[in-house]
Amino acid sequence: DLSNAIVAQDEMGRPFIIVRDQGKKQRAHGIEAVKSHVLAARSVASILKTSLGPRGLDKILISPDGEINITNDGATILTQMELSSEIAKLLVELSKSQDDEIGDGTTGVVVLAGAMLDQALELIDKGIHPIKVANGFDEASKIAVAHLDKIADTISINTSDISENLTSDSELFKAAKTSLGSKIVSKTHDKFARMAVEAVLSVVDFERKDVDFELIKIEGKVGGSLEDSKLIKGVVIDKDFSHPQMPKEIRDVKVAILTCPFEPPKPKTKHKLDISTVEEFKSLQTYEQDKFKEMIKYVKDSGANLVACQWGFDDEANHLLLQNDLPAIRWVGGPELELLAIATNGRIVPRFEDLTPEKLGTAGKVTELEFGTTRDHMLVVEECANVKAVTAFLRGSNKMIVDEGIRALHDSLCVVRNLIRDNRVVYGGGAAEIACSIAVAAEADKQKGIDQYAFRAFAQALDVIPLSLAENSGLDPIDTLTSLKSKQVNESNNNLGVDCLGANNNDMKELFVIDPLIGKKQQLLLATQLTRMILKINDVIISGKDEY
Ligand code: ADP
Repeated sequence: DLSNAIVAQDEMGRPFIIVRDQGKKQRAHGIEAVKSHVLAARSVASILKTSLGPRGLDKILISPDGEINITNDGATILTQMELSSEIAKLLVELSKSQDDEIGDGTTGVVVLAGAMLDQALELIDKGIHPIKVANGFDEASKIAVAHLDKIADTISINTSDISENLTSDSELFKAAKTSLGSKIVSKTHDKFARMAVEAVLSVVDFERKDVDFELIKIEGKVGGSLEDSKLIKGVVIDKDFSHPQMPKEIRDVKVAILTCPFEPPKPKTKHKLDISTVEEFKSLQTYEQDKFKEMIKYVKDSGANLVACQWGFDDEANHLLLQNDLPAIRWVGGPELELLAIATNGRIVPRFEDLTPEKLGTAGKVTELEFGTTRDHMLVVEECANVKAVTAFLRGSNKMIVDEGIRALHDSLCVVRNLIRDNRVVYGGGAAEIACSIAVAAEADKQKGIDQYAFRAFAQALDVIPLSLAENSGLDPIDTLTSLKSKQVNESNNNLGVDCLGANNNDMKELFVIDPLIGKKQQLLLATQLTRMILKINDVIISGKDEY
């Protein structure tokens, strides 16, 4: 029916046909749009697929200004890819939400969402309306999430797992270690896992079952190797003492934490400052000196033996500080100043006049560390009044390695924190996804309407995790999946997953490949939500157009 089609020409004289859309066609066009969204999402998800799991490939990211970054962290890859499609950007948001709430599973959630959209597309092609698909997926995800609860196991948390007590059979330690699986070179795994557990347990609040990440600072500095990284029970400030002749170590520290500048206020004269004679200059100099002395006296009188200042001060002041045996640190950034105050139980003081002994922070010692090759300095504040602040201090031969180290440690910290919040786990290597896939598929057989198709499609989407893990590990994906599925059913063992590292064992419980339950649930929920959103976006647009 061409009655509503007209032939027109463009400015180059090329003919084209304009088809006036009718409501019905509009809808068809809407589905075309859903399809194009799905395709955009698929291309992003397929890039991330190859990064999934301990054998996942790293990606090299080159920023527009030429900075190189190597990683296989999903959230990082996505944020650095220049994505033009709005839908692809939604995937970035998806990965970020997983990162914000859980801090782990950022690759998996995108891969899962990609697979759901793929499956949705097939159903749409069969003529099922996107909204019906979305609703079916919602129901299916509820079944999957409930099944996760059913198969979840708990791991034991030993509250005394710090320092000497932390052995390699600590379950938290093992969990932290598996989470590092695909991130950094393996010989540092023990070290990083240990740092993660110790850091979390140093600041954990067992009553609230939570961990305040504000109290764990990760500081990276290029130089040395990852092996040289360490956890400092205290605060590291990326500064040195203001004068090279100040002592390199101070004990029984009482620190004045100042946000006021160490400089004299401008003299308040009615007229502008005019210095025309030597006398005038001298008197100004004396005025400044007196002001400095007054400030130093305030500090000294409070009993402080160290000054941490948010601002800089000039040589004159610096010299006076040295003369008065008052070591100082200048240009301490706001967040560092705050952390210092928290760690030392000190108060941040905005005016010299406000300094009192009670407002000083206390610490056992402050030491200046020097790093051979780079001649960089750092100050380490230890034995703090408030022991609940730690700094993971990461070293690495170049920025790339330090950055990847920071990300790896962050993931590990998140896993340990998540387990403290909730110590229920499911088994990884795709084991949990396979179990859910079987459960959802079984439900599909009980459905009569369209839901049975949606359920089956959802079950197949879940398979993407074991399939990708197998593929990335050089195993035959289909064979691996089929054999795992039949084994899970026949042996009624939900813990069987993909043996990515060639351990000759599919039992993920034995291999201690775990994923916190809350993280796995979140992945399912977020991926389903995003799928629903993409399938729905278009419907809104269509109905708007239809009405007009
Ligand atoms: P994400 O960013 O989603 O956490 P990862 O690249 O860290 O992605 O991969 C996580 C996936 O790899 C999870 O499904 C996890 O169960 C699996 N995995 C991790 N270590 C192993 C292992 N040793 N054997 C099998 N699977 C593993």
